[in-house]
Amino acid sequence: MKTQRAIFQCLNKECKHVWAYDYQYEGSIYNAFRMDGDKKILFIVDSKRCSKCDRLSTKVRIVQGTHSDSHKCGASCFAAIGANCKCECNGVNHGKVWLLV
Ligand SMILES: [Zn+2]
Ligand SMILES: [Zn+2]
Repeated sequence: MKTQRAIFQCLNKECKHVWAYDYQYEGSIYNAFRMDGDKKILFIVDSKRCSKCDRLSTKVRIVQGTHSDSHKCGASCFAAIGANCKCECNGVNHGKVWLLV
């Protein structure tokens, strides 16, 4: 089982909400899910709907971590909304502030 973080952004101009979840998956990311209590929620279901305004217009970014010892984690990593992380955390801290648990 692998873990993958996805960062979501609402495309509704009055909302622009940003949030993230960590998903578990085997094989394709499109089978990924997270647990909400004892309920299994699929990534593809989450990816369609804004968690704040409920509109069906979102942008999804799958976090890709590239390890780099020379880049320390900072605000640009923790509060990132882009997909690519190139620093010492290998993507672990990337977009962390947006995580909804
Ligand atoms: Zn929204
Ligand atoms: Zn980092």
